[in-house]
Amino acid sequence: MSARVLVVDDIEANRRLLQAKLEAQYFTVLQAENGQHALDVAEQELPEIILLDVMMPGMDGYEVCRRLKANRLTAHIPVVMVTALSDSEDRVRGLEVGAEDFLTKPVDDFALMSRMGALMRYNAVASELRQRQASGLKAGAMDETQDEELHRPARVFIIDDNPRTSARMATMLRNDGHTATTLLEAGDMSNLATMGVDIMILSISAKAFDPLRLCAHFKMTEATRAVSIILVCDPSDRARAGKGLDIGASDVIFSPVDRQELLARVRTQTRRSRYIELLRHRVDRGLELSVIDQLTGLYNRRYMMSQMQQLMQRAVMGGKPVSIVMCDIDYFKSVNDTYGHDAGDEVLQEVAGRLRENVRPMDVVCRPGGEEFMVIMPDTPGDLACAAAERIRRAVASQPFMVSGGKREITITLSAGVATIRGPDDTIADITKRADTALYQAKMGGRNRVESVAA
Ligand SMILES: [Mg+2]
Repeated sequence: MSARVLVVDDIEANRRLLQAKLEAQYFTVLQAENGQHALDVAEQELPEIILLDVMMPGMDGYEVCRRLKANRLTAHIPVVMVTALSDSEDRVRGLEVGAEDFLTKPVDDFALMSRMGALMRYNAVASELRQRQASGLKAGAMDETQDEELHRPARVFIIDDNPRTSARMATMLRNDGHTATTLLEAGDMSNLATMGVDIMILSISAKAFDPLRLCAHFKMTEATRAVSIILVCDPSDRARAGKGLDIGASDVIFSPVDRQELLARVRTQTRRSRYIELLRHRVDRGLELSVIDQLTGLYNRRYMMSQMQQLMQRAVMGGKPVSIVMCDIDYFKSVNDTYGHDAGDEVLQEVAGRLRENVRPMDVVCRPGGEEFMVIMPDTPGDLACAAAERIRRAVASQPFMVSGGKREITITLSAGVATIRGPDDTIADITKRADTALYQAKMGGRNRVESVAA
C-alpha cells in the first residue's frame, strides 16, 4: 500500500491541486476541509503524513496541530504546515505547536517532494523503532524527561567556500543559541562524530570541493552517517539538490537563506535526529529489562505496573474505563505439596495458557508472582470485566489439568476480584486494593468464584 497523506485545506481547489501532485508520486490522498474533520480523519485513518493549511475558518491550523500532538493516537504523525508565502512568523509558530515541517504557498513541486521524501525516510526508521518498542516492551523506559534533550541547541558545521554567506548563516545560528563552525573547504572530517555534530550545512554551489561527493562520503562513513545534512541551493540548481536528497541529504534551503527558515529547519532536523536516537536508546534499554515471566511467557510485574500506569493515564484523559481482574489459584500450595513443584509449574503454565485464550488481543495478561495472575482490560467497564472474569474462571474449572507429563489429572479452580477505575483521582494503589478486597471476598465466599467491589 502506498503512503497515505491527509491534505487539510478549507479551499477545495487547493486540496485538488495537492492531491494531483501527490497522486502523481503514488501517494494515496485523504482530504479534510476543516479542523474538526481533519482531527477525525487523522484519528480514524492514521495517515503517514498530514499537510495542514494554516488559515482556515473556525479552528485554524495551529490549533489542529496542537490537538493532533496532544492525542496519543496521532502525536507521532508528521505534520507539515502549509503557510502563506508572506509570513515567515507562521513557520516558527507552526514548529512551536509541534509541526515537523512547513511549506509555503504556492506549493512548489520540488519543495513538496523533497519534504515528503525526507519525512517518509524518517517515518520508516521511527515506525520500525516504535514497533520494536511496542512489541517487546512498553516497560519502564517511557520517561518523558528526555524531551528537554530534543530541544537542546544544535551543533552545526557550515561548509561553504563563500566566506560571506557562511559567516552570515553562522551569525544567524549563534544568535539563536546554537553552536556554529564554518569551514571554507572540506578538510579532515574524521572527528566530527566525536565532536557531537548534529547538522552539516553544505553549499551545493561550492567550487572549492564537490558537495555531492562530500554528501555521499558523509552518508557512507559510519562516524558521520547519523549527522543530518542540509543543502543550501540556488533556485536554479534544483536538479543537483534533488540528487543530494537522493544520496541522503535531509533537507534543502534555497539561497538567499531566510533567517526564520534556516532556524526552523535546523530545529526540525535536530529534533528529528535526536528523536530517532532517543527511540533507539529506549529500545535498547527496554530489551535489557526483561518484561516476560520466564515460566509462563506472560508479562511480569514490572511490565504490569508500567501498563497500568499508562492505561490509567489514558483512561483519565480519554474518559474510557480500565478494569483489572486479579486471579489467584485456589489451594495452590496443596498442589505443590501433593504432586511436587514440577506439577505446580505445569499448572501455572496451563492456567497462563487458558487465560491467554480467553481474553481479547487488547487485554494484557500478567503474572506478577506466585500463583497470582492479573488481566488489565483497557476500555472495559466493570460489568464486561466481570463477564470476562467469569469466562476465565469457567475455562480453568471446566477442564481437568494434566500434570506429571500427562500421567495425572487434577482439578484446578481460581478465584477472581474485579475492579474498575473510578475517576481522575483513582491511583494504581486504589484500584489494586479494591481488586484485592474483591478477591478476598471471593476466597471467603467459597472460592472458584468472581467478586467485584460495588461502585
Ligand atoms: Mg485556507
